[in-house]
Amino acid sequence: MRRTLIAGNWKMNGDFSANRSLLSEIKAGLPASLNCDVLVCPPAPYLAQCAELLAGTAVMWGAQDVSVHAQGAYTGEISAAMLADCGSKYVIVGHSERRAYHAESDELVAQKALHLQKSGLLPIVCVGETLEQRESGQTNQVVAAQLNAVLDVLGDMAAMVVAYEPVWAIGTGKTATPQMAQDVHQFLRQQMAARNAAVADKVQILYGGSMKPENAAELLAMPDIDGGLIGGAALKSQDFLSIIAAA
Ligand code: 13P
Repeated sequence: MRRTLIAGNWKMNGDFSANRSLLSEIKAGLPASLNCDVLVCPPAPYLAQCAELLAGTAVMWGAQDVSVHAQGAYTGEISAAMLADCGSKYVIVGHSERRAYHAESDELVAQKALHLQKSGLLPIVCVGETLEQRESGQTNQVVAAQLNAVLDVLGDMAAMVVAYEPVWAIGTGKTATPQMAQDVHQFLRQQMAARNAAVADKVQILYGGSMKPENAAELLAMPDIDGGLIGGAALKSQDFLSIIAAA
């Protein structure tokens, strides 16, 4: 049975004071026995703060992106080793905002994922179609290309997480219906199963895109939805805790 992972992607939000409040509210509100894994992905300058405030708790922390390079003269970049040094466990790669605003290609995302694995970190590989692509019936083709580009280069399919994030559902308040999301999740698992069915059965596939307390339970109840990658609702402790409770 796959364990549920509830991950907050804070995107470019927060500051020391707001993070401190958010994390202390989350810590105080967590149930004594958690039946899911919990992760927060703050902006990189706050990883050390998360490490300090979350050490010894059930909440893990991770990053939102990584350099494709190991080290050296790459001004502004942050390496996988640095993220690991900050105690990160997971790192998001290929978020649609990076694909759209930083022109990240499937191949670059694949190299980033590989680089993370080599540093002992678990990539959360995001895939998802735009509204135009969905409306023209290209959803499966788009997500398959995004996922397979990564699977073609990754050494270990078991050491990764997939996140299906339909671009049209991100930050828009529009959520994929549970069945729409399930259909894509099942398709993504089939893509992995074509390579190794036993491993595909174990890979967590998260849903992201306007997940909130009102829709989390029914999304998370679908057989191939193994957690959430949550943006806006992860910035509100009560919403994030409600989603954790729904897992
Ligand atoms: P929202 O939950 O704000 O729609 O964002 C989803 C997302 O992009 C998580 O990575």
